[in-house]
Amino acid sequence: MLDKKLQAYKKKERIPGVTPAEYKKEFPFLKEVDSFALCNVQLQLEKAFKDHFRNRKQFKLPKFKKKRDKQSYTTNNVHNSIRVDFEKGLLYLPKIREGLKIELHRRFEGKIKSVTVSRTKDGKHYASILVETENPRNKVIEPKSRACGIDLGLEHFAAVTNDFGSYKVDHPTYLLKAEERLKRLQRFLSRKQKGSKNSEKARLRLARKHAYIANARNDFLHKLSKAIIDENQVVVVENINVKGLLKSRLAKSISDSGWSKFLTYLKYKAEWYGRPFIQVDRFFPSSKLCHRCGYKNEDLALHDRIWCCSACGENHDRDVNASINLYYVGLGRPEVTPVERALVDDRSPNGLPKKPSRNEAGSSTTYG
Ligand SMILES: [Zn+2]
Repeated sequence: MLDKKLQAYKKKERIPGVTPAEYKKEFPFLKEVDSFALCNVQLQLEKAFKDHFRNRKQFKLPKFKKKRDKQSYTTNNVHNSIRVDFEKGLLYLPKIREGLKIELHRRFEGKIKSVTVSRTKDGKHYASILVETENPRNKVIEPKSRACGIDLGLEHFAAVTNDFGSYKVDHPTYLLKAEERLKRLQRFLSRKQKGSKNSEKARLRLARKHAYIANARNDFLHKLSKAIIDENQVVVVENINVKGLLKSRLAKSISDSGWSKFLTYLKYKAEWYGRPFIQVDRFFPSSKLCHRCGYKNEDLALHDRIWCCSACGENHDRDVNASINLYYVGLGRPEVTPVERALVDDRSPNGLPKKPSRNEAGSSTTYG
């Protein structure tokens, strides 16, 4: 179907409508599969062309899939054709008489709408089940802290300040280790002869490692963003220009660290739970301002990890200080200026109470 459409496109002819039925004679195996699978492919293909003509810049022309890429099909539930037996751990799909043995991640309630079965590059099979339910959102927890400031970093994943104090969230060690192993597997693969059996084996191992890292990182980002949204009423982050930074020489570590995903997760979770999510202007000098007296350190360089305020003598950890300033924004004090000094000084000597916050995801270092 794609070929027929592309041919017409190249010849600048009208793009013809095509249906899977036309091909059943030539390719008898199409009769073996469930008709919704074919129908959904046709719908997706039509949508892809429609999107392309609507916005050529954002939506490229559809391409053929590679055999090695992720493969998938979607089928719809009609007259109970799709069922899940939670007790036996079986999934029933159209055209498959016996239930498929599955590993269930969780139980669900509600009406099954459709199922997408996919095989990832690492050769594993997944079924994602779309279900219609009354209220898909989790219960909202009362926040313990009024506000929270988050400074994203590379050395540590983030520095966080809320009502209970400041802490740093490290990159999970299992991820760092997995990345080391990934590098080794990459070298291993590059030494193998292309197309050989051993190279195929190495490729599969590499794909598995990639999938493991992607899943583990996603898990970490989801748990951390959930914990932060649960705990705090107002969440403030710096509006970092991730796209711009990706062009810099730090690109690899930034895209690996999952910053942009993390911000996306925070944003939609904040929306779900009705918590204000603030991204401060990128010109707000969160790192350069002394959180204690409001002095602006114009000489602060990117590699300065610690600095001493020449106005009040306070020693600062760069990232923690930035997160404190962002926390103040959340409290409704956008900028700590020297005029407001009295306001700052009425707090405890470090500007913040001592008790650290408990954080579920990742290990963290606590700062008094
Ligand atoms: Zn100061």
